[in-house]
Amino acid sequence: MAPAMKLSPTVADLSLSVTLALDARAKELARERDDIVNMAVGEPDFPAPAACLEAAERRLRSGHVKYTPAAGTPSLRATIARYVTETRGVPYEAADIVVCHSAKHALSGAILALLGAGDEMLIPLPAWVSYFEMVKIAGATPVLVPPRPDYRPDLEAIERAIGPRTRALLLCSPSNPSGYVLDADELRALTDLARRHDLWILSDEIYRRLVYEGPPAGSPVAAGADLRERVAIVDGASKCFAMTGFRIGFLCGPRPLISAVTNLHSQMTGSPNAVSQDAYEAALVEEPPEVATMVRAFAERRGVLVDGLRALGLSLPEPRGAFYAFPDVGAYLDERGSVGFCADLLEDRGLALVPGAAFGMDRHVRLSYATSLANIREALARLGEFLKR
Ligand code: PMP
Ligand code: GLU
Repeated sequence: MAPAMKLSPTVADLSLSVTLALDARAKELARERDDIVNMAVGEPDFPAPAACLEAAERRLRSGHVKYTPAAGTPSLRATIARYVTETRGVPYEAADIVVCHSAKHALSGAILALLGAGDEMLIPLPAWVSYFEMVKIAGATPVLVPPRPDYRPDLEAIERAIGPRTRALLLCSPSNPSGYVLDADELRALTDLARRHDLWILSDEIYRRLVYEGPPAGSPVAAGADLRERVAIVDGASKCFAMTGFRIGFLCGPRPLISAVTNLHSQMTGSPNAVSQDAYEAALVEEPPEVATMVRAFAERRGVLVDGLRALGLSLPEPRGAFYAFPDVGAYLDERGSVGFCADLLEDRGLALVPGAAFGMDRHVRLSYATSLANIREALARLGEFLKR
């Protein structure tokens, strides 16, 4: 008999990312049934911009698809530095950037570089599923802080949660899963708090360009000249440029952190994909026209979805950005919580949503509107019927 396989405690309790697992389940069901509406995964339903595809093609045809430096090509690093300088209003140079295989790779690299065993990272809720696991993989503890009843970040509760082992604060604005965008006052208060308690801020800005009303999303790094020393920015090609399968992103921040993450990635994953680096550079040199078209489509879908959810009597955090809505379905849950709700909804009505439990708020469910208006209308009709059960 083969010996029972013993895995390390780092991975033994790890499960597949809930968002990716649900997407896989919805796609599997769609092969058996033709009525599945998938509002689970956060992936734009648009092709990558033409300029990016052409740049990738040029690289492939050149035949020169080789390792690049571990931190990325000098040209892409310089382009990213210019892009961050322009979009965040804070000056950066190529040496402040490490190109990564994705935003996930940038986040996990930063978390491994910033947190050690026993350290803590503050994560205001609701928050994207993979942060919690990445922090645990680093041997550290995610400290989860629920929002206020009006869904704004609870600054007092965040401050109360700070202890001697707290090293960092995770921010994600626009937010996955709620679409909430931090305003200038909230960014000022959160960065003040980081200063007072000497914390790092890891700022996930992957949805930065996807804001549909009110002022654009600000970065915490712009809240004061000194913040460049304690803020690390993560961004990538997946969401704003509809380039999920290219797997490319970056980390931008203080040089000791950038060097550490470069060293880590050079040992663990090597240089980022050469083809994707060229494709991403084409997106950043000049915004491709497809981006504005995509943003307009998301804005329209958002309007239909948010109005529809409110018409069903559901309340939700104000989703100014990203492509998610996160309504409260607490009144409709049984003892299985949001996981049971979503399982029944998928099996009975063929509608795939993500349970709020995956994001630390079990009264809620997440709907992604990175899908057609027809799907959104159908999803609202099915959800309405389901709530009347
Ligand atoms: N951060 C957030 C908040 C996300 O929603 C996602 C979605 N995958 C990522 C990071 C990771 O993006 P990437 O595809 O670049 O790994
Ligand atoms: N970030 C997307 C989502 O939340 C993609 C899935 C994932 O990477 O977890 O749906």
